[in-house]
Formats: sequence, C-alpha cells, structure tokens
Amino acid sequence: MKTILVLGAGTGGIVTARELSKHSGNEDDINLVNILVFEKEERSVFAPSLPWLMVGQRKPEQIYESYKKLDASGLEVISGEIENVDPENISVTVKGKVYKGDYMVVSLGVEQKNDFNLDKFGYNFFTLDGATRFNKELDILVVGKIAILVSSLPFKSPAAPYEAAMLIEDYVRKAEISSKVEVALYSPEGGPMEFAGPEASKELKILLENKGIKYYPNHQVTNVTADTLEFSNGKSYKYNLLAYTPKHEAPAVIRSSSLAGESGWIEANRQTLETKFPNVYAIGDITDIKLDTGVSFPKIGIFAREQAEIVAHNIGRKIGNNLPDHTFKGEGQYYIEYGKGLASTTDVNFYEDPKEPHVKMKTPEVLGHWHKWWAEKYWFFKNF
Ligand SMILES: Cc1cc2nc3c(=O)[nH]c(=O)nc-3n(C[C@H](O)[C@H](O)[C@H](O)COP(=O)(O)OP(=O)(O)OC[C@H]3O[C@@H](n4cnc5c(N)ncnc54)[C@H](O)[C@@H]3O)c2cc1C
Repeated sequence: MKTILVLGAGTGGIVTARELSKHSGNEDDINLVNILVFEKEERSVFAPSLPWLMVGQRKPEQIYESYKKLDASGLEVISGEIENVDPENISVTVKGKVYKGDYMVVSLGVEQKNDFNLDKFGYNFFTLDGATRFNKELDILVVGKIAILVSSLPFKSPAAPYEAAMLIEDYVRKAEISSKVEVALYSPEGGPMEFAGPEASKELKILLENKGIKYYPNHQVTNVTADTLEFSNGKSYKYNLLAYTPKHEAPAVIRSSSLAGESGWIEANRQTLETKFPNVYAIGDITDIKLDTGVSFPKIGIFAREQAEIVAHNIGRKIGNNLPDHTFKGEGQYYIEYGKGLASTTDVNFYEDPKEPHVKMKTPEVLGHWHKWWAEKYWFFKNF
C-alpha cells in the first residue's frame, strides 16, 4: 500500500487529503492508500472569515473546527510540530519519530513574525486571537483614528487589508461615529494588489476612495510606538487603534531543508507543482512561483485549493500506473467584501497572457457577498 505524507492541514493540506482519499479508491472498508496528515495546531481556522470577525459579523467559534473532526477514508492526522523534512528520502520527523512515504505534498503555509514589537501595540488580524481582540476594541471606540498597516511584503491574501478597511468603514458608518473616526490604510505596496496589474489595482483604489478611507501606498513602517507609526519616507501617523499584517516567512523547518529555494520559499513547477525532488510536491502559500513578469504568484487560498486538487489527482494517476494529466492553469475567482452586504467578484488568470495578468473586478454586488458566505459554509460542511 502506498503512503502519502501531507504536510500541514490548512487549506491546501485538507483539500489534498480529501481528494487523495476520493481519487485513490479508498472507501469505508477498503483503503488502497495511507494518507498521513501532519499538523501542529489543534484547530483549523477559516481565514477568509477573519475580516468578518474583526467587525463582529462572526463569533470566533463560528470560524474554526477541530482537526480531530477531519474525516476521510484512509486519512490519519498526526498531531505535532514537524521537526525535520527530508525530501530525498520522502520522510518527516515528528516528536522524534520518522514517517516515510512514497509521495509528499508540502502545504505548510507561512510563518508569521512579530516585527517592530507590533504585537505590543496592535492586533494581528491574520490570527483568530488578534481579530477577536481587535473587535473588542472596535466595539468600545467612539472617537479616534484606526490604522490598518501592511507591515511587510510579501503577505498572503493581498486583498485582505483592503477588505478589512472597507468592512471597518462600514461598521463605523453603521455605528454613526464616522464623523469622529478616521480609517487609514498604510502599505509598502505602490498600489492595492499591484501584482494584479494596473486595471484591478485602480478599481480597488477607487472603491477605497469612494468610502472615504485614507490610503497611503509606498509607506514602509520602520518604527512603532504606543500611538505612532513611523515610515521610511519620514512620514508618521498618530493612531488610537491598530490592526496589522505580520511579516511572513517560509516556516523554519523548510528554510533549513534542501527544499528551500534562494528566497527561502519552495520553488515548484508552475504547472505540475512538483519540486526538484521526484514525487515531492509543494502547493499554496509556501511556494514561490515566478511569473514571466518577474512577479511572484500571489498567496491566496483559492490557488492552494486548486493546486491541491490537481496534485491529488495526479498522484492518484501515478499510483494507478497512469501518466499525470492535470495541470495548474493559474486561474481562479475570489471575493472582496465591500460592506453594505456587497462583495466584488474577482476573476483572475495569471498564465494566459504572460505579460499582463488578467484580473477583472466586478462592481460590488449582493451575489458576490453570498458567494463568499456560501464558500465559508461549504468549507465546513465538506471537510468536517
Ligand atoms: C485575513 C485573511 C483573509 C483571507 N481571505 C482569503 C479569501 O477571501 N480567499 C482566499 O482564497 N484566501 C484568503 N486568505 C488566504 C488563505 O487563507 C491562504 O492563502 C491559505 O490558507 C493557504 O493555504 P496553505 O495550505 O498554503 O497554508 P495554510 O492554510 O496556512 O496551512 C498551513 C498549515 O501548516 C501548519 N504548519 C506549519 N508549520 C508546521 C510544522 N512545522 N509542523 C506541523 N504543521 C505545520 C499550520 O499550522 C497550518 O495549519 C486569507 C488569509 C487571511 C489571513
């Protein structure tokens, strides 16, 4: 029986494991493959719902589930931190025990770092705890300045800070305190979602401006105190409430392994997601896939999911002695919440035209919001 090691039970890992179970003939009483999923946390947070949590549209317990509830035939979750990854031998070490496999899929996401003592002064809304505590502070704020800060590049879900700012503006307006509360967004990017090309970036900027959100691109933070952000261009901003994105790195266990490329992230084939090691794949946020423009492929969950399905399908083919026949096409659709119960549906295709990414943002509409609502419900229904 073949064994597949799935590293990480986040978005990519869960979908890989579920699809592997489905594609490889596993049924309740017959297991043709052994799927070992390695995860250090106890619960799985549905990150796209964190901006809703920030503004009180979700309670924390509504957006996570225990990994113990992950259920698919042939699947076993091994709890604990992966201490070593050995791609040459297709093995990992957890709590001193070595697990060997025939195939390996690495979906370990990003490691979040606390730079500039940000955790002392603000709320990391890329975590369940940070988004929850931000919401408690927002609830009692009646006057002052709210700063949303992108602290460094690259960061996953490049639309999330903009979405958070728009939902916060919506909250402030509904609470009838908009005349006394300012919402400002600072980022080192030259424009919102620059990777998406000038058209989509401009459209998102217009949405921010229409809402009266103060937007400051080209601002790299260099120092943070209890009430002030200082930037490399000499500017500063006095704030009362701060939400930030942390610095992102590839997890240490990967940086110290032979899988790490020059950037520390894993370089994978942009179509098959196979790494330089045969039968070892990398998907999702941990990959560094360079587009022809030199820009790195963005770290967004829809791609982790799509890549997971492709890799699981192809491993299933290989196990059945067939040639892999699915490839990643660099396309997908995601939703950016605008407030007022509306969201913008965004269609992306990064591979079609190598010179210019195809990213189309629709005007925010009710349907987009319901798509996002449904994506959340479906995630929990299908996986737990
Ligand atoms: C605020 C926010 C909003 C977002 N909104 C959207 C959205 O609207 N749409 C969208 O498509 N995407 C969105 N995303 C992005 C999406 O969540 C990620 O792109 C996606 O989760 C990436 O999947 P992954 O499998 O690569 O990594 P992850 O889902 O992060 O999974 C990695 C897993 O590996 C585990 N792990 C790491 N190191 C170890 C180790 N040493 N040992 C054991 N386990 C380990 C981690 O605990 C984690 O569970 C959002 C993200 C955030 C933070």
